[in-house]
Amino acid sequence: MMKELAFASIRQLQQHLHTGDITPDDIVSTSRERINAYDTQIGAVLETFDSPQSSHTHDGPLSGIPGLVKDNICQKGQKTTCASKILDGFVSPYSATAVNRLQNAGAFSIGRANCDEFAMGSSNETSAYYPAANPWDTSCVPGGSSGGSAAAVAAGYVPWALGSDTGGSCRQPASFCGVVGCKPTYGLVSRYGLVSYASSLDQIGVLSRYVYDNALVLQAIAGHDTQDDKTLPHVHNNNVNFVQHLTGSIKQDLKIGVIDSAINAQGIHSQISQALHDALDVYRQLGATIEYTNLPSLDHSAAVYFMLSRAEAASNLSRFDGVRYGNRYTDTQSLQEMYEKTRSYGFGPQVKQRILIGNYVLSSGHSDEFYESAKVVQNMIREEFINAFKQYDVLFMPVNSIPAFSFGKFEDNKLEMDLQDYFTAPANLAGIPAISVPCGFVDNRLPIGFQLLGPDLSEGMLFQTAYAYEHNTDWHTMHPHL
Ligand code: GLN
Repeated sequence: MMKELAFASIRQLQQHLHTGDITPDDIVSTSRERINAYDTQIGAVLETFDSPQSSHTHDGPLSGIPGLVKDNICQKGQKTTCASKILDGFVSPYSATAVNRLQNAGAFSIGRANCDEFAMGSSNETSAYYPAANPWDTSCVPGGSSGGSAAAVAAGYVPWALGSDTGGSCRQPASFCGVVGCKPTYGLVSRYGLVSYASSLDQIGVLSRYVYDNALVLQAIAGHDTQDDKTLPHVHNNNVNFVQHLTGSIKQDLKIGVIDSAINAQGIHSQISQALHDALDVYRQLGATIEYTNLPSLDHSAAVYFMLSRAEAASNLSRFDGVRYGNRYTDTQSLQEMYEKTRSYGFGPQVKQRILIGNYVLSSGHSDEFYESAKVVQNMIREEFINAFKQYDVLFMPVNSIPAFSFGKFEDNKLEMDLQDYFTAPANLAGIPAISVPCGFVDNRLPIGFQLLGPDLSEGMLFQTAYAYEHNTDWHTMHPHL
């Protein structure tokens, strides 16, 4: 029974709860047992709460369903460290809107998921505590920055986890760990209580084993919030319903635009390219029209993302000065020295490097050349997507060109690490929703995902399209042997 519970879908868990076969405590016990048994190896969880704040809602859409929250999202009365030493011991005075809404829907968080420090990374190796590992092969990374969230879901600890996605951080770890990861439309989910990385790109997203679960959790957290004025004013939480589209078939006359240069690129692992072509065959059989297209400005995305994310990070992270937040280095003679030492000891090397680059990008004399021109190209990228969606309902491309890689692989080649965002950052730059769906394995061992992108607020159709694939294939029934 316990093993069955570990990989059950939210609907299955709710059926069990409904018939009285199990209680919510049984689900939490299963989670705890698995975390105790496997997390010394996997490191997906930074903390499991002794007494999770279980919800009082008994008839909500997520009643009794536990999950984990990435450690850059605030949970009232609990620590939030962003996997950084500078926030070691910081306790959140309030909960993120997303966390509150999940509680209102009956779900509850049992802990904090590991991640890259301040969500900066693609491998979880920059966590100041310990790296998380991939449950399919613990010698490989789970991806990042929401690597702990993806690994936890893949390992059957919990059915859902919250992540954040600024340049790919929900989708890339989802594809590495064989789970579903969604980056919603910019402004669909409130970022109140999400520690800012690059505010013009940040979105909270969901990781789950199944498409239905992802839609269910996303609809619980979506919608306008007065605490985040970038949330879209006309989308109301109680009107969002993504699961109604999950019929198992695709939208009538669905037209998929495949990014030719992306799926047939030289650098793509041949088995990933093959798996993506196979997935397209499934869509053909389901009745979709498949056409090849190109988005020329895609080639500039990684560079534009690099500039904007560093610039905004440098500005956002200036608040961690030892005065208002987190740890302070006290053995100092002056205020300036206190700032310097607090930040030198508190931030890890990746974060420092980004702050340095960001301040350079924004510095007088350089900001026109770097920041402003990056903004111009960002608008071109968005325009290109908008035009493409006049012809296609959804666009299809890889999430990543390689499967999960071994620890330390890019230690001496940071540029290669930054290029991990190549296929994922475009959706953030354009502000559009995108989802990563499991579609096979490299060497029968390391998961592969494909990526669907749609116009603003097309989450319902993306979930429908993703669910139709899942419903007609069986990748989602495969789980890592731990
Ligand atoms: N890998 C990207 C980065 O390091 C994406 C991170 C994210 O989406 N949070 O910036």
